[in-house]
Amino acid sequence: MRLNIAIDGPVGAGKSSIADAVAKKLGILHLDTGAMYRALGLKALRTETDVRDERAVTALCAELQLDVRYGEAGQVTMLDGEDVSGLIRTPEVSMAASTVSRYAEVRRMMVRRQQELAAKQDMLLDGRDICTTVLPDAPVKIYLTASSEERARRRWLEMREKGEPDTFEEVLAQVIARDEQDMNRPVEPLRQAEDAVLVDSTEMSFDQVVDTILRLVEEKTHGA
Ligand code: C5P
Repeated sequence: MRLNIAIDGPVGAGKSSIADAVAKKLGILHLDTGAMYRALGLKALRTETDVRDERAVTALCAELQLDVRYGEAGQVTMLDGEDVSGLIRTPEVSMAASTVSRYAEVRRMMVRRQQELAAKQDMLLDGRDICTTVLPDAPVKIYLTASSEERARRRWLEMREKGEPDTFEEVLAQVIARDEQDMNRPVEPLRQAEDAVLVDSTEMSFDQVVDTILRLVEEKTHGA
């Protein structure tokens, strides 16, 4: 049976970096599904497409030249043949991604691509709807979260390292605004799947979270 691991959670819960570390330990690929919505958000910004225009965004998504590759440093997100892995990490693209991901047809297209990738190989996917929609039958399902303050603090430290000037209060406001939009959208809003295991990392170190998830994988795949 395919080893598919599904991790969902809100902004800044550390999903991507934790997922990277877990996947590496297990020797499987990690698909950061948020990067796909981010690439669409970037494309909308670049083409000056109004992200609130569902029809225009859906048309853009249908023609999106998006490719996910894997290199030494993990996932490489390609848009129109260009590596945009770094460019999709700005706050502007984050918010655009959150808006374009509200549309049903956009989600249907993205979910299909994600399911095709996961069907081909053992893979860990992280996002907002992996446990609920993309891989509802995954043997391992996790909802990774932390308090909003802690998530904002981690994101703020990360941004400071990159030399970005936002204050902690600004980052906290961005985290809350994006959570609000992701949890209240009409289609596949972010929520913890009933059968997902809750991992609250507020008081945990990076390594503790990785170990907790690896233990869960072991339990779920080999029986406790
Ligand atoms: O995970 P990340 O913060 O990179 O995701 C960017 C945005 O893409 C999220 O705020 C969310 O709106 C959207 N997203 C989604 N479903 C996923 C992954 C991301 O709606 N599976």
